[in-house]
Parts: sequence; structure tokens; C-alpha cells
Amino acid sequence: MMTGDEYKASLGDGRAVYFRGERIADIAAHPVFASVIQRVADGYDKLKAAGPESAYFDPPRNQAALRRLARAEIDPVAGLTHTSLMTLMTAAERIAHRRPQAKDAVAAYVREARAKDWRIAECISDSKGDRSKHPGEQQDPDQYVRVVERRDGGVVIRGAKLHISAAAFCHELMTIPTKAMRNGEEDYAIACCVPVNATGVHIINTMAGPRAGDLRDSPFSTRRQMPQGFVVFDDVFVPRERIFLEGETDCAASFAHSLGLWTRASNLADACDEADLVVGFAQLVAEANGLEKIPHIRDKIGDLVVSATLTRACFEAAIANSRMGENGMMVPDELFTNAGKYQSTAAHASMMQILQDICGGSLITAPSIADLESEAVGQFVRKYMGTKQQVDGAYRLRLLQAIRDLSASEFGGQRAVSKLHGGGGLYAQRVVTRGRYDLERAKRLALEAAGLEAPPV
Ligand SMILES: Cc1cc2nc3c(=O)[nH]c(=O)nc-3n(C[C@H](O)[C@H](O)[C@H](O)COP(=O)(O)OP(=O)(O)OC[C@H]3O[C@@H](n4cnc5c(N)ncnc54)[C@H](O)[C@@H]3O)c2cc1C
Repeated sequence: MMTGDEYKASLGDGRAVYFRGERIADIAAHPVFASVIQRVADGYDKLKAAGPESAYFDPPRNQAALRRLARAEIDPVAGLTHTSLMTLMTAAERIAHRRPQAKDAVAAYVREARAKDWRIAECISDSKGDRSKHPGEQQDPDQYVRVVERRDGGVVIRGAKLHISAAAFCHELMTIPTKAMRNGEEDYAIACCVPVNATGVHIINTMAGPRAGDLRDSPFSTRRQMPQGFVVFDDVFVPRERIFLEGETDCAASFAHSLGLWTRASNLADACDEADLVVGFAQLVAEANGLEKIPHIRDKIGDLVVSATLTRACFEAAIANSRMGENGMMVPDELFTNAGKYQSTAAHASMMQILQDICGGSLITAPSIADLESEAVGQFVRKYMGTKQQVDGAYRLRLLQAIRDLSASEFGGQRAVSKLHGGGGLYAQRVVTRGRYDLERAKRLALEAAGLEAPPV
């Protein structure tokens, strides 16, 4: 297994990565990405300390292992890697009837990835062009990643995958079709893994900056920021042993569904603690402001508690109803995973609104920690940001800065959008929930209650 320092060194592999118009010669030395890379490096060191071959990337074999799906547990990039490996293994099983060789190809890839201790990004979202049109109907055929040439030893792919979390900080790009493909769209039914430094891969990074880089003012954006990659495959050769689907259009959606399941389960695991964090902030700031006994504030915090509890209930139900796959892998329940991800995302905006309401305007107008430390004005900040004897200005300022950073900063805005679209968007979660829900049983119950036998045909 690599150490954190070895991971940093491994990024110097000639990858073509860009930021704000410039190609980055040495990403590990770039000041904007230093904290992200350090977080991933710390994750490597944590796993190395856990033993010679960490069990973190093992497929979950029981419910206790499923419980550890939260991506923040080691570091988010290790989490993406875990999801990628589980996706490939789940999809290989689901398509075994059509492409039996995928199982061995995936198993060999997983072994290699673990032996070389790679980090893997999830590349599913194509640029998609005109959303009303299928891949084969697009004016520009490259709007979905496709095979443009077949050679003896493999294929050449072209296209782009957008919004790819941490792409430039991984070693590999798991590249899978975004959705079901039709007859005639065989070139788009391609699933494979591509090294980040492969010839023809270009990654353009985007990242929102924290306020003045002061950790104390911006505890979330400095620690939790994750750059997104705009990943271009400009005629990239993929050797045959790294291909898991090639042309089986009827199996293309299996990869998207498998990724959806594992990503949403991780998102839901994270959402449980995030919802509790919001409740905690709301209660602390209400107490600091002397408002914790006011009825409407108590009611609002009660609403937050209900939302947080529903999110956790869905996660618990997804675990309790998990099932063992044929490959010995424990898989979370899709109904509760998707309903929980939908519920937690839909509730996020209103939870943040309640938190911001309780904070008051100081949420975005409070001075910085540097002002608090200023010889000239620090005493005023401490005095007027304080509310009562037990709550001094420094405490309340730190609390408000943390909540601002989480909910009302550029990072907070990005998080709101990332919750909405991450994991495939609300629409996709609703579709899967509806598909897994027992609608027939619900109809039978309703018929029985109305004293009817069957609906008219
Ligand atoms: C912070 C962040 C991180 C992400 N990380 C990753 C990642 O690591 N890997 C990855 O692959 N993706 C990632 N994504 C992408 C994410 O999965 C997509 O943003 C999401 O699936 C929506 O796709 P889109 O952005 O292309 O929007 P669009 O597809 O344009 O969707 C916009 C709206 O239009 C609707 N819509 C679009 N097409 C249709 C249609 N044909 N019929 C009906 N309604 C339609 C959608 O439901 C949605 O309401 C990330 C996104 C964000 C914001």
C-alpha cells in the first residue's frame, strides 16, 4: 500500500491537467489543491496504519460493513474508489448472462487496482448535448463517449465526461455509459477503465475558493472542498483487458444503475451525519442567542430533528433490508436507498433555511477571526458579538463563521447544487423508488378498503 508521500509522488505521471486556462506542471505542488491532496494523502496514511492490506476496499459481506459507507470515513477519494469497485463488481454480476467474460475482467482489474493502491474516479455523466435526443440522434456524435475505432488489442474512445469529482487526483477513470442505449448505438455501449495519464485524456479542474484561506473562518470550504474535473477523452486507446462492456446495448444501463445504487447509498450515509450537524448548529446558535426556549424557535428545531431522523431511518431501512448477492456481496436495499437520498436532498434547502433564519443577519455580516485578533478593533468585535456572560464574542463568531461557510458561502452554494445533482438528480431517484415500490400491494389495499374487487380493465 502507498503512503501519503508516495501518493503525492504518484501524481507526477505526466497527466494533462488544467486550472484556469493553464496546464499544471506539478499538481502536487499547486497551492490551490494542496489541502485536497493532503486530505487524500492522509487517507492513504490512515489505511496504511490499519494494516498491510486494508479491508476498506473489500466488498461488504455483512450489514456492519455496509454501515461504513460514509465517504468521509477515510477520505472522499477513497470513498469514490470504493464506490467504483463496488459498481464494477455489481454490474459484472448483473450482465453475466450477456457478457460472462466481464466477471473475470472486472475481478482482474479489481485485483490490480488494489495491488497498486489506485484511487478511481466515477465517470458517468456525459456532456449529453441536446437532452431531448438519444446519443445516436445527436448533431455531434461525440456528445456521449463512444468507440471511434476498433483495433486488434482494444478500442479508441472519444467524448467527454463532465463534473467528475476528484478526477485529477485519482489514478484511474472508471468510464461507463450514462444510461440505456438502443439498437444502433453499440458504439456508445462501452464500459472501461482508463489511466488518468493516458494519451488523449485532458482534465480541466474547477474549484470554489474558501474565504481568504483562513481555516478558522472557513472550516468546511478549506477542509471539504473537492475539485471537479471536466474530463475529455480525445481519441484514447483502451486495451481489451480493461473493457467490461462493448456493444451490448441492452446491458448499458446496468452500469448506471449499479453506480446509482452505491453512490446514493454513500450519499445517504453522509446525509445522516450532515443532517445531525445542522440540528447541532441550530441548537447551539439558538442557545448562544438566548432563543432556545422561544416557541417558534423550538418548533423550527423540531422540524430539523424530524428531517434528520427520517434520513437516518431510511439509511437504517436500507441496511436492514440489504440482501446478499450471488458474488457474496451485501447490497443495500434500492427502495429505501433511493427514497432516503431523495428525501434528504429535498429537505436540504428547507433545513438550511431554518438554520439561517435562527442565526440572524450576522451569519453573513459578522467580522472575520482576523478582526477579532486585531489590536485596533478586536475588543469591539469580542464585546458586540458577545450575547451574555457565558457567550463571548469569539465563541459566537466561530459558530457563525462555520455556519456561513457551510450554508452561505460559495462553497455552501456549490454544496446545495451538488446535493441536488450528485447521485444522478432527484428525477432519477424518484424513478427508481417508484420502480422498486410495491404499487400493486398498495392498489390491493385501496380496493379492499373501498370494498371493491378489481379495477376496471
Ligand atoms: C458537485 C457535483 C459532483 C458530481 N460528481 C460526479 C461524478 O463524480 N461523476 C459523474 O459521472 N457525475 C457527477 N456529477 C454529475 C451529476 O450526476 C449530474 O450533474 C446529474 O446527473 C445531472 O446531469 P446534468 O448536470 O447533465 O444536468 P441535465 O441532464 O441537463 O439535467 C438538468 C435537469 O433536466 C432534466 N432532464 C435532463 N434530460 C432530461 C430528459 N431527457 N428527460 C427529462 N428530463 C431531463 C433533469 O432531470 C434535471 O432536472 C456531479 C455533479 C455535481 C453537481
